[in-house]
This record gives sequence, C-alpha cells and structure tokens, in this order.
Amino acid sequence: MFIKTGAKIMTDNDDLRALVRTIPDYPKPGIQFRDVSTLLLDGPAFRRTIDRMIALVNPGSFDLIAGIEARGFIVSAAMSYALEKGKVMLRKPGKLPGTAVSIDYALEYGTDRIEMHDDAILPGHRVLLVDDLLATGGTAMAATTLLRGQGAVVEQALFIVDLPDLGGTRKLTAAGVDPGALMAFAGD
Ligand code: AMP
Repeated sequence: MFIKTGAKIMTDNDDLRALVRTIPDYPKPGIQFRDVSTLLLDGPAFRRTIDRMIALVNPGSFDLIAGIEARGFIVSAAMSYALEKGKVMLRKPGKLPGTAVSIDYALEYGTDRIEMHDDAILPGHRVLLVDDLLATGGTAMAATTLLRGQGAVVEQALFIVDLPDLGGTRKLTAAGVDPGALMAFAGD
C-alpha cells in the first residue's frame, strides 16, 4: 500500500494533491510554498485528509498528539477529536500562560522558536507529532527534542505534505522518528 521514498507516503491521494496550491517565491525567492489553505477550504477533502492520515497510524501506539502552531493545530485537533486522544500544543513564543520550556531551531527560511508547557507530558507518554508539511525537518526535529526533553517517547510523525528533497524525512528517520505523509512534492 505504501511506497517508501523517505517518508511513508500513502498512494492515491491525487485528489488531495490537486488542492494544494503552489505559490512560487514565497516567503522569499526560490521557495515553492505548498499552500494547504486551498485544501482546507474543501470540507469533504479535509475530512478525507484526516481519515487518510489516521489510516497511516496505529492509534494504540501513541497516547497523545502534538501539533505544531499554527497549521499543525488544524490537523492535530481533527485527529485528536476523531481518535479521542489528548493533544499537546507546541506554540510560538510568548503564548503559553503556564511555565513553559522552549527550543530554538532553523527553518528553510529563517529561524524560529517553539514552546510547550512543562507539565504537559508524563514520563513515557508516547507522542505522535503532526504538522502540515515536512521540509528540512528543522521544526519537527526541534519538536521531537523538546518533547523528548520532557520525557516523551516520540517515534512517529505525520504530515499532509512531504518535500523529500529537503531532507526532513532522512533527518527524522536518523533520529528514530518514522515519518508518514499523504503526498510528496519532489524537486523542491
Ligand atoms: P521545516 O522545519 O523546514 O521542515 O519546515 C516545516 C515548517 O515550515 C512547517 O510548519 C511548514 O508549514 C513550513 N514550511 C516550510 N517550507 C514550506 C514550504 N515550502 N511550503 C509550505 N510550508 C513550508
């Protein structure tokens, strides 16, 4: 059912792939921005997206879902609702009211920081990491490091889109995280 080209990619998602808009040279020259907002506008397609992401994982293999702000929240909330799993918010700086831990990381285009509450994870909690898109893997690796630093077991990550040529899948796999995605855009 899967082809293995870095991330585990589910086949037959051309219907969803066609709804991801490509915006060239955003946010800076040379970046092909894969914009999932056009997919999100289509309700039935969003439902199929979530259903097919759920089909890529074994719900018994994780306790919590971690979503990365902001587009990762859309995916993590829908999966969390469908699977009745709790979710951890990995937030942009300065948003969390409680005591937070943070990590800085490099992006495909710049640098950023994510934070989480320091009491969100119980030691040994198995966490599924989700975001809209995997590019260089900097964000997902930072999230993994942050979660593991709090005692979480992070062995699976799930994305709508993988950009395999940017190396994120290799980086996650090398760190012991198995990445899955519904579609890939090669050559970015
Ligand atoms: P990275 O840390 O390089 O794997 O980048 C992943 C994060 O940045 C995700 O949260 C994406 O939403 C966003 N991102 C990076 N590159 C792109 C791109 N080419 N198109 C759309 N989103 C991107």
